[in-house]
Amino acid sequence: MQERHLDPLGSRIIDTCQNCGSGRLRSALFLGYVPPVNTMPEIGAPADVEMRFPLAVFRCQECTLVQIGYEVDPQILFPHSYPYLSGSTRILRENFADLAAESKEVLGLSSGDLVVDIGANDGTLLTPFKQNGQNVLGIEPSQAADVATQLGIAMVKDYFNQALADEVRQKHGPARLVTAANVFAHIPDVHGIVSAVKHMMADDGVFVSESHYLLSLVETLQYDTIYHEHLRYYALGSLIDIFERNGLEVFRVKRIPTHGGSIRVYAATKGQREIDASVRECLEEETRAGIADGTALDSFLLRVVQSKLALMSLLSDIKQDGGRIYGVGAPSRASTLINYTGLDDGIIDCVMEINTSHKINKYVPGTRIPVLDEKKLFEDQPDYALLLSWHIADELAEILKRNGFRGKFIVPLPSPTVL
Ligand code: SAM
Repeated sequence: MQERHLDPLGSRIIDTCQNCGSGRLRSALFLGYVPPVNTMPEIGAPADVEMRFPLAVFRCQECTLVQIGYEVDPQILFPHSYPYLSGSTRILRENFADLAAESKEVLGLSSGDLVVDIGANDGTLLTPFKQNGQNVLGIEPSQAADVATQLGIAMVKDYFNQALADEVRQKHGPARLVTAANVFAHIPDVHGIVSAVKHMMADDGVFVSESHYLLSLVETLQYDTIYHEHLRYYALGSLIDIFERNGLEVFRVKRIPTHGGSIRVYAATKGQREIDASVRECLEEETRAGIADGTALDSFLLRVVQSKLALMSLLSDIKQDGGRIYGVGAPSRASTLINYTGLDDGIIDCVMEINTSHKINKYVPGTRIPVLDEKKLFEDQPDYALLLSWHIADELAEILKRNGFRGKFIVPLPSPTVL
């Protein structure tokens, strides 16, 4: 029997700013009514009623936070069966090794210091900390936690909240470092999370968050990273404001390559740490790019629409000539691109994933496009591979060619092209 989640549970419209509470939210983009990106019916299941939620982006006219206008219940977005595993992405593994080395140097972490990771998934972030001798603890509600447990990482299999923060503090003591990678924009009640994180931190403790970066999103037209899991789209300016309201201060920042452009932000209790020059430099860059005053978003809608039309036109020419197209990669972002541009199984036959992926034998959300084992690409040799993980297009194309794919590559964004 298929699991059915037709009840929108605790989902709700967001009509006041998630940071400052203002009702002055300016609409920037509406990507349609789309399904949650990780809710994927099994192949062969009859098409049934599906959940779809509005996906609109707003910018707060008071505090500048960019955010979506609808909160989907976390139990719908992050069920036990959540299929995502961090460890399958090389860039993430390398990034977390870099984080462990950098934070050891910046914070002077010693062996035995407690490091707590929120949204720890399969333990990929905590692994290099554990190797460095730190005492590690992961918090993760989905089945990915079982993978981490098998690696010998201590896990709390639950959703992070204030009550859990109390429990962790009582049981494990204060943390020298709390990390939250690609989850700090995902949990509702941002001030509740920051206050709970603060509660777990030692007096000289540090909170490091890594989030997809608004400047990268706008610069390279990554509208496909907009989906319900991402409630907020952070600029450094917004993060500073959020932390300040909770007595924390950002003291160091670094742009990192994960997910096509993210930002690693170090925060500590106000006055604890010297502020690194990277903070001022990054704020200056946001001002130059029109992020601080919001002008960067003025042309965003038009650029997104033009790129959708250009992709349609390119695919239309290929289909006119009888070309066969397979998608490659089914990351969460592929669901936004496919649903917003209206791709279906008449345009792309299927989407390929590596054989360890939990997404194989399921349909891309909202469609009848099957996700299948990548070996089919090499057996069938379609004319084109549409790279849905286009933010690593060069690397991906090299690997596919090396493994024997002889067709052409389509890169859908920022400007649709055939490589
Ligand atoms: N941190 C990993 C990384 O950077 O690759 C995983 C990121 S994944 C996009 C988000 C993770 O956060 C998922 O594993 C999800 O189950 C988990 N998550 C979602 N809500 C959470 C919450 N309230 N508390 C703890 N983890 C949560």
